[in-house]
Amino acid sequence: MKKIETIYVNGAFIIPNGTDTLDLLSPVNNEKIATVTLANEIDTQHAIAAAQEAFKTFSSTTKEERITYLEKIRAAVIRRQQDLIDVMVEEYGGTYQFCSMVIQFAINDFTAMIEVLKDFDFEKITGNTNVYLTPVGVAGIIIPWNMSNGFICTKLSTLIAAGCTAVVKPSELSAQQTQIIAECFHEAGLPKGVVNFVNGLGDVVGAELTRNPGINKISFTGSTAVGKIIAKGAVDNMKRITLELGGKSPNIILDDADLEITIPAAITAAFLNSGQACAAGTRLLVPQSKLEEVNTLVKSFVETIKVGLPSDPDTMVGPMVNQKQFERVQEYIKIGQEEGAELLIGGVGQPKGLEAGNFVKATVFTNVKNSMRIAQEEIFGPVLSIIPYTDDKDAISIANDTPYGLAAYIFSSDRERALAVASKIDAGRISINGLSHDSKAPFGGFKQSGIGREYGVFGLEAYLEPKAILE
Ligand code: NAD
Repeated sequence: MKKIETIYVNGAFIIPNGTDTLDLLSPVNNEKIATVTLANEIDTQHAIAAAQEAFKTFSSTTKEERITYLEKIRAAVIRRQQDLIDVMVEEYGGTYQFCSMVIQFAINDFTAMIEVLKDFDFEKITGNTNVYLTPVGVAGIIIPWNMSNGFICTKLSTLIAAGCTAVVKPSELSAQQTQIIAECFHEAGLPKGVVNFVNGLGDVVGAELTRNPGINKISFTGSTAVGKIIAKGAVDNMKRITLELGGKSPNIILDDADLEITIPAAITAAFLNSGQACAAGTRLLVPQSKLEEVNTLVKSFVETIKVGLPSDPDTMVGPMVNQKQFERVQEYIKIGQEEGAELLIGGVGQPKGLEAGNFVKATVFTNVKNSMRIAQEEIFGPVLSIIPYTDDKDAISIANDTPYGLAAYIFSSDRERALAVASKIDAGRISINGLSHDSKAPFGGFKQSGIGREYGVFGLEAYLEPKAILE
């Protein structure tokens, strides 16, 4: 059994002051796979002090120097690519398919940020005034367990490009992944203190980052509930905040869409990362006139999906991260039935032969009303709600009728019509006719899905303070 006993502070892997430990259990069979030593507030303060000291010099590096660092980190991530994929699969039960994609995107993030930085001008002229874009300072980075290393690479590539330094608090559930990614940053030879990784609990390490005045900005990815706690804490010393929060994204099939192509793509968007994805398209909006046809196609497609071991490259739906998340998904399936939604496939209980782990059945409800809890609340599991609508106006109204606004998916054979619908959807990222990703396109939420944007120029500017000098 592995032991993660160190944290990475001021350029070294050190034993933390904190002595509490946490056992990590395999999502596949709930057996212990590792023990993590949890850091405490004192460790967090040391890491913040190291990042503050490093900022004094790192903030004045040239963009060419920062590009060289980004190239070296990217090379290290490429070298450790297979280790990173394997540990993600083991630690949180992400499917091999999905984890491979996340690490490829993480590598692309460095490439994209290097290109952005090459073209970026840190000095702009507005009217008669020179405006200097200066790094915001020390960033506190708080990360969820799903796609942990992907988020670390997105956020750190951006803040390093800006000339900031950071203390990263990964999820306590992704300590093994963090160990490897920290080694990548170490191998790249970044000056000591530029990035620090502190494993620990949210209400200990995360809370210290939120309240400590040495942190100038918090970039958080996680649930809306914790995002609100962080926003309230950060306001005390006016920390800048970027919040990437939850979602209940609409997957809209317009009545001219080719259903044979659309259904597999729409289900893939819904069951992304076994449904444990912020941008999962978990509400399938279907024209009333096509409901029966869509029900039949969805059912037969879901019957072909492999629910199984995450290490199997053919698996599309793996286990939930832990028993708590397993129970939560089971509870929502029961709620759906109590609310009167029609179960099309799946349901409570576990798939045969997978009872030892946190596996749930890929589940689809149809004839769901958008006011039902299963259509309004983020379940974070492979549970899809099919919701009928009358016309495009009705589809738009249903799509926007949740507290969230992270992503949306629109399927149509008419590009202009899809764009017209997209223009009325409250969501930070909208994909037309399938799942797509662009490491330079802004990502972030409308409404309670967050504040601010990540990736590309928009992401970079979120780590910069404009300073106007008038002569
Ligand atoms: P979470 O909100 O429970 O935890 C996220 C992080 O916050 C963890 O590191 C946790 O330890 C920390 N934390 C918890 N309490 C804290 C506190 N009081 N102060 C400071 N930090 C604290 O989320 P999770 O269960 O790890 O991840 C799932 C959630 O993340 C889902 O809601 C999902 O939608 C969201 N998410 C959003 C995006 C996005 O880009 N918008 C991406 C992935 C996940």
